[in-house]
Amino acid sequence: MRSSSVVILGLIGLSIANSFHGLAWVNKADSVAALVVAVIVIYVSAQLGLRTVSTLLDTAPRGLAEKIERIAARVPGVVNAHAIRIRPSGAHTFIDMHVTMDGTVTLKDAHSATEVIENAILKEISPADVTVHVEPAGTPKTSR
Ligand SMILES: [Zn+2]
Repeated sequence: MRSSSVVILGLIGLSIANSFHGLAWVNKADSVAALVVAVIVIYVSAQLGLRTVSTLLDTAPRGLAEKIERIAARVPGVVNAHAIRIRPSGAHTFIDMHVTMDGTVTLKDAHSATEVIENAILKEISPADVTVHVEPAGTPKTSR
């Protein structure tokens, strides 16, 4: 829920509580309602703050690299995917990665595989820019 809608809901709640003025329990209800709204607003603000901080720190959603690795590994000819880098920028995600493939495939086939990988990733993560770097099997996994 958006922070603004929480505040609006809280204000609606307060005005409903206010419209019951004259009843004995109203003053109590007002303060309880105000307290509830305050707690909700603080909670939502803290969440927004945390999200802003992780955006500023370019923190990728948890498990996304593993997901990308699994998507790439399903593509025929791919031995493994590694050196996966994910950088969210607002709603957009920049992804670059290495894939190891059989060294005897043609450049044409290797390129086709990168397009299959890119499209498979885009189906799951969008909008995104995906760059796939191909290297022949036998290259150390940690190479860049
Ligand atoms: Zn590599």
